[in-house]
Amino acid sequence: MFADELKFPVIDLKGIGSSYAKSLAKAGILTVADIIRYAPRSYENRKDIVPLSSVPDKREVNTVVEIVAHDFVGYGKKKTLKIFVRDETSTGVLVCFGRNFLKNKMPVGKRFFLYGQFDYRYGELQSTQFDTEEYGENPGHFGLILPVYPLSGNLKQNVLRKAVKAVLNTYLPSVEDQLPAALIRKYNFPSRKDAVRAVHFPKSMGERHEALRLLKYEELFFLQLTAVRRAFKYKKEKREIRKITGSIMKKAVLLLPFSLTPDQISVLKEIRKDMESENPMYRLLQGDVGSGKTLVAFLAALFIIEAGGQSAFMAPTELLARQHAENAAKLLEPLGVRLAFLSGNIKSKQRGPLLKALKKGEIDLIIGTHALFTSDVEFKKLEFVIVDEQHKFGVMQRISLFNKGEKPDILLMTATPIPRTITMTIFADLDVSVIKTAPEGRKPVITHLSRMGNEEKVYRAVKEELKKGHQAYFVYPRISSESNAKEGLKDAERMFRYLTNDVFPEYRTALIHSKLPDTEKISIMQNFSRGEIKILAATSVVEVGVDVKNATCMVIEHAERFGLSALHQLRGRVGRGPDQAYTFLIYSEDLSDVGKERLKIMMNYSDGFSISEEDLKIRGPGQLAGTRQSGFLKLNFADIIRDTDILNQARKDALSLLKTDPGFLRADNGVLRDVLERCPPFEDDLLSSG
Ligand code: ADP
Ligand code: MG
Repeated sequence: MFADELKFPVIDLKGIGSSYAKSLAKAGILTVADIIRYAPRSYENRKDIVPLSSVPDKREVNTVVEIVAHDFVGYGKKKTLKIFVRDETSTGVLVCFGRNFLKNKMPVGKRFFLYGQFDYRYGELQSTQFDTEEYGENPGHFGLILPVYPLSGNLKQNVLRKAVKAVLNTYLPSVEDQLPAALIRKYNFPSRKDAVRAVHFPKSMGERHEALRLLKYEELFFLQLTAVRRAFKYKKEKREIRKITGSIMKKAVLLLPFSLTPDQISVLKEIRKDMESENPMYRLLQGDVGSGKTLVAFLAALFIIEAGGQSAFMAPTELLARQHAENAAKLLEPLGVRLAFLSGNIKSKQRGPLLKALKKGEIDLIIGTHALFTSDVEFKKLEFVIVDEQHKFGVMQRISLFNKGEKPDILLMTATPIPRTITMTIFADLDVSVIKTAPEGRKPVITHLSRMGNEEKVYRAVKEELKKGHQAYFVYPRISSESNAKEGLKDAERMFRYLTNDVFPEYRTALIHSKLPDTEKISIMQNFSRGEIKILAATSVVEVGVDVKNATCMVIEHAERFGLSALHQLRGRVGRGPDQAYTFLIYSEDLSDVGKERLKIMMNYSDGFSISEEDLKIRGPGQLAGTRQSGFLKLNFADIIRDTDILNQARKDALSLLKTDPGFLRADNGVLRDVLERCPPFEDDLLSSG
């Protein structure tokens, strides 16, 4: 197991000063164990001979050369030494920028080990980046495969190598196997000791491959094990069984002007089953914007309300919370549900009585913002917590709400579709519900890409829509221009004036962004919602959840400044009614090809899952909204996208281990403890009941 001595802080290691330790800390290296799992980015193979004649097929040369001649180019201070060398196959030139002293160290006739990057330049085979060592019995850095580590701060390759080497010399004996023996046998893995050594200083590239095979698997295996454990742990809690008849819910459905989609129905069934279980629910509901998640959540709350419990629905912004409250009122008040709304802006005159009623159990469903988890908010019987756009809240914030109830059922919702590889990794996939198909009758939004300079065309198209009585959003990356005048970025304030005065003088426009007071934001949104305001110039505040069916145009300028998931969310603001809707993505002239590819994804895909899969391919998992906080995906050796096969295998093994040896998950398992310590806490690790 990971012995305690591996927790030895690097700052206490000999030869590592405090400023160097700071740089190590920045790279995530605090302890000996962190050094051990600091994965090389690549290797310099100074073992296998690659002669000069291999260029240009290869750039990396590793050979033994004899010094043939010296020469200088340039004058004065710019004078640069050139050393002419030859090995058995060819000749080459070492260009010694700032290293003229090498002339004496490398006299004509002497032989040297040489490792360097070579290119043909000016008809010569040249290298400016090379390393040499006098040829002889003791080749020092030569004859080895050297690790190349990712550097940051003042980290230096050579110092890092030395640190790793020193650490391995002292601590390698303490490294023990972590995997269950059966798995080591099954895959014929090398020992962990060998793997750790070989990943830093492999004797051959084959050995390194074997080492990585173990280290990647190990990482993914424990990742899966903890994910599975998480999912099991909260669910293992016992609670009183409740009986749900669903009769109020059925009434609500009959009152709807439409019928539920098959996906909505099956998600409601899953939730109902969870709610009837003797273990609390801990479920993630994913579905694209407008797929009908909120409705499902309201209907699910009816299950609980009918059984005599209270529900809380938390949304990330006041705007959104209010909109949910209004929709809930329309749907639920006719059924006799007692609703309340709470945000930081509710005055104490109202707040006092509201909190009292909540505590007495006179409110069935409370909808609100962060204000819901403040400490004076108490419930009589909180049994169901819904968190909308769950990734917009911190873990601790969510937990403080959960802890207001006695093992409440938990429904986390997100409109940021998370690729399956990731939900699998974080949520073990055990309790993820997905609404895939949007309600019928929605036409996919038509998306146009437009280069800056062609805005007039876009504005004209929008005007046509306005003439039909529709409304439009214009979204900008910044509120105002003070700080970014130089970048030539359009901003919401300036464009609001321009759109109002020059482009659409005959229509009523408004400006909305996060700096406005909440009351003002709300009144603007209400006016927009009623159709009095036709055009909103905005920042991405309109990103989440705003629902105005009559808005058919979404214009996003400097679209390249937004993440794809943000663009997807923004686009989801239109196309919510029966009319054809449009999104115009306007991008800067100097957008790179990759940037254009990303925007094309928006044009070619309309469902969020495909978009996030594509985005993931381009950007890597760390960047995906909703998973960033998990920090969890900062793997040292494995890559959940490239190593999906290993991930799948590790997952199968983790599940079957749990069946055959549940003891492996016990808290006294040192390996697991070590892994857990490296993962940020999740809800169920911190719930007071857990
Ligand atoms: P989400 O929370 O997933 O963004 P909502 O629940 O807010 O989606 O639903 C978006 C809009 O679609 C709302 O106006 C809602 O009334 C409507 N809606 C929900 N379910 C259906 C359905 N089955 N058929 C038609 N419209 C629906
Ligand atoms: Mg929503």
